[in-house]
Amino acid sequence: MNKKIPLALLAATLLSVAGCNPEEKAAQKPELQTSTSAVTLDLSDAPEGKLPQGVSPTAYRLDLNLDPRQDSFSGSVAIDIQLAKAANHIWLHGNNLGVSVIKAQLTDGREVAAQYRQVLDSGVAAIEFAELLPAGEFTLLIDYSADFDRNLAGLFKVEEQGSAYVLAKSESIQARKYLPGFDEPGLKATFSVSLTVPEGYAAISNGPELKREAAGEGMEKVTFAATPPMSTYLLSLSVGPFDIVERPAIPPSKYRKEPIPLRGFARQGRGGDMNYILDITPEMVETFENQLQRPYPFKKLDIIAAPQWPSGATELSAAITYREQRILVGDNPAPGARLALVEVHAHEIAHMWFGNQVTPPWWDDLWLKEGFATWGEPLVLRIMEPEGGHDLNAATYAIGAMQLDSLASTRAIREPVTDNNNIRNAYDSITYSKSLGVINMVDSYFGAERFRPALGRYLETFSDGEADSPSFYKVIGEETNTPELTEAFRSFVEQKGVPQLELLLDCTTPSQAKLHVSQSRYKALGSPIEETGQKWNIPFCFSSAGSEQQCQILTRKEETLDIAVNTCPSWVMPNVQGSGYYRWNLPEAQWQALLEHFAEFAPTEQLSIIDSAFAAFEAGKLPAAQLLEVVRQSARVEKRQVITLPLNYLRKYRESYLGEVQHSAFLNFAQNLYLPLLNNSANSAEPDQQMLHSELLGFMALVAGDPDTRKQLVDKATAFTGYKTTRDPEALDSDLYGPALTVAVQDAGDDFLSHLIKVRGVLDDPRFENASASAIGSSDSPSQLEVVQKLALSEEMGPRETFTLIQYSLAQPEVQEQNWQWLRDNFDKVVDKIPAQIRRRTPAFAGVFCDAKRLQELQQLFAQHGALTPGYQRSLAQTEERIQLCMALEEKGQSLMEALPRSVGLAQNI
Ligand SMILES: [Zn+2]
Repeated sequence: MNKKIPLALLAATLLSVAGCNPEEKAAQKPELQTSTSAVTLDLSDAPEGKLPQGVSPTAYRLDLNLDPRQDSFSGSVAIDIQLAKAANHIWLHGNNLGVSVIKAQLTDGREVAAQYRQVLDSGVAAIEFAELLPAGEFTLLIDYSADFDRNLAGLFKVEEQGSAYVLAKSESIQARKYLPGFDEPGLKATFSVSLTVPEGYAAISNGPELKREAAGEGMEKVTFAATPPMSTYLLSLSVGPFDIVERPAIPPSKYRKEPIPLRGFARQGRGGDMNYILDITPEMVETFENQLQRPYPFKKLDIIAAPQWPSGATELSAAITYREQRILVGDNPAPGARLALVEVHAHEIAHMWFGNQVTPPWWDDLWLKEGFATWGEPLVLRIMEPEGGHDLNAATYAIGAMQLDSLASTRAIREPVTDNNNIRNAYDSITYSKSLGVINMVDSYFGAERFRPALGRYLETFSDGEADSPSFYKVIGEETNTPELTEAFRSFVEQKGVPQLELLLDCTTPSQAKLHVSQSRYKALGSPIEETGQKWNIPFCFSSAGSEQQCQILTRKEETLDIAVNTCPSWVMPNVQGSGYYRWNLPEAQWQALLEHFAEFAPTEQLSIIDSAFAAFEAGKLPAAQLLEVVRQSARVEKRQVITLPLNYLRKYRESYLGEVQHSAFLNFAQNLYLPLLNNSANSAEPDQQMLHSELLGFMALVAGDPDTRKQLVDKATAFTGYKTTRDPEALDSDLYGPALTVAVQDAGDDFLSHLIKVRGVLDDPRFENASASAIGSSDSPSQLEVVQKLALSEEMGPRETFTLIQYSLAQPEVQEQNWQWLRDNFDKVVDKIPAQIRRRTPAFAGVFCDAKRLQELQQLFAQHGALTPGYQRSLAQTEERIQLCMALEEKGQSLMEALPRSVGLAQNI
């Protein structure tokens, strides 16, 4: 469909043009015969972002015929709408819908004819009425039909193991593909849903099921209770031959009188694999209630394991829906799978309050739901599993966000979203993990006892409604009576970038030591970030040898703090508990002094040291030798998160800067640091040590290229898949699927690939299927490329798997050139194949590159074909910048590789 319909055409197709109008432009516009005062419809006014104010839905009554065995569906919706003033047209959403009947029903029962017309490709439609509707309430009645989507967007159909399922994935703006309505988060309304489905099929929506009655021809009509006011992106409509797992209701709690019915849904035959998530749910719900001092806000809780769900999980109100491999883990999941499960589950349950009960009105305030849901993970998990390392995990996520936040092309947590095509760009680690870091910083600086009751008050104030950031700041400010707290929030939420603190310990007068601190925006070598005098209100806590921690909010570019000791401290630690969202740097001697005490710091502080050291190295401020010392220190502690934080950097440096002659030096370095840790953790019963073991195996095999580790993984993979031997299902735990299958594809012999393709078709194991997609993409044999590339576009690969496969195919140096060429030659086919929701991220395929030629080719690709992937500009800018920064670091990166100890003898001394 054309983006805009020319006005001339419009005039010809609409009712006759009435009256005479002095303005030529206006004279071309259609004007309704009965209207003398209404604003006339001008299709060029179609809103690209928010809908115009003054038209609000209050209730939907949705009645659909959903048979997953068919390819399309039909039904009707009645929407009660409040008009602030009289109107002859309204704007709403609808995308590729076949509207057969549309009319308005006034409060006196009279019906007014209407016309529906989709105006924008993003799903913006105009409805024009045959007469002026008065201000007040009316009901819009629509009969319509549409095809089920086959690309996991909107109301989509998937087939798994011979059965068809229909599921609705609406976030962010895909409800409009199956529902004409107000597809905008702030326009909440109640939903009364009924679904006519094949007899015996499970049907899930947001309200509890009220009744089921025969509807003839092998169909049943299922009616659900009305929901509280809800946004369209949270609608749940799931139909199929699901297994239903009934659990005892979650008992009443201190904050809630009614029990909550709890059920699990998985595709046929897999219900038994949901025990783990169902077992932990009651305690998790109650822990949230206690922390937020607010009751769970819905009348039931369904947990759905959805085949091919395009996101990891989505917080549909009272019907949380997961990509099935995230939660179909059996009774005894591998530790990495288990950790991922408890984190994602805590996140989704947190959403029942943050996002579902209190909803950000527009996507620019996405952090108010995603940041708080991410923060909800450590909030409850540290209570449920005190030894689980959840604070450390949270710290690593915030550090992960700093890498993206160091780019000039990053976003602020809160930034205007004016175009529908840009909405999904807000779903990045800035919104999720930077927000987590900022909320954690504020919570720990000002104290949970001050911050959390205010948070509960915010939820209470806006319950069942909407709240934006200014409303949040206002309530939090009033409740805590601490203006510095809201100012700290505001300065981190509204500004992009990571604060960099340059510190200098000044002992000119030893009895009165001082700390000079200056703040600026962090930038790496080659960064286009310009000095603008930007500053933050930074909750800053430091400690020093022989003294307690000292805290202060930094508000100026430069400050000098007195250190509360009477001798010059031997070291200063600039981020106590690692809870500050900032990076820091010290003069070389003071780095050295700090590193001598590395093992004594808290693990979250060690994470801050490692992050700041890599950041300083990439800014050209820390020498390679000192950075290597930090890496060595990190491998001498116990905590998995500390040991593994440098691994991604080392992988990147090795891929980009390692010369041929240094391969053995890198291998030696890695063997010396990590083989002892691998051995120590080999038979550990501790889940965290087991995870460490898996991560190190992957690193040693895939990055360092350690022959023994590779052999070990090949043996596991061939035994597990029954390659040239009988299959041993116990040979490989699911945390190792990725590395083991990858090494096997590369080392086990050419026909392992075809064997793997066969096995993944037979084995009903979604985690295996997903991991095998990355392994297949990692083939480094030119003779197999044709098979791999064909597979990528075939029906055998799910849309998400294709994305994964291609991503990995570009990371293989041996065949990178051929794969890159193939991607550019087949870009339109690839875009067609991958899920609509992630198409805008296709520039990131090139994120592994580090040279000017490929950068230019990337730019050419999107100059030519960018239109196929609306909203790609953000991802392209970030990928371009990453490539440029990688190029700018080349000299330093090489110096680091050259600083690796030359021989085994030397290496043993480290
Ligand atoms: Zn979320």
